Amino acid sequence: MSYTYDDQNIFAKILRGEIPNKTVIDSEHTLAFEDISPQAPVHVLVIPKGPYVTYDHFAAEATADEIVDFHRVVARVCETFDVRSDTGKGCRFISNAGEHGVQEVPHYHLHIMGGRWLGRMLEKED
Ligand code: 5GP
Repeated sequence: MSYTYDDQNIFAKILRGEIPNKTVIDSEHTLAFEDISPQAPVHVLVIPKGPYVTYDHFAAEATADEIVDFHRVVARVCETFDVRSDTGKGCRFISNAGEHGVQEVPHYHLHIMGGRWLGRMLEKED
């Protein structure tokens, strides 16, 4: 089995400059931008510039440079929006993957959400 990347997904179009975005940080391997439909006062998406479908795909196949760059951008977003868990009130990192994860856009992205109390992580199933 292997991961199949669809280069017509919305985030691929954002990376190619075909769709506008509100960029927060643009680094060598990573782009951070504001979610178009924010679910919290802070809602930023961090994506690798490489063609990775999900977090597990990125974790398995990205280069060390891509992985380090991605995570340093995450830290810079937390600093920028004052949602660090030391100096600020923290935030939530979410990455939906595949069918059960209810992933909408098939390009790996990490949601960074904060700026309010976010409640429990998941509702229990009845
Ligand atoms: P997922 O459900 O795949 O984890 O999340 C996809 C996210 O992408 C959603 O939070 C949605 O609001 C966001 N999104 C979808 N289309 C666009 C877009 O064109 N621009 C931006 N900035 N965010 C988008």
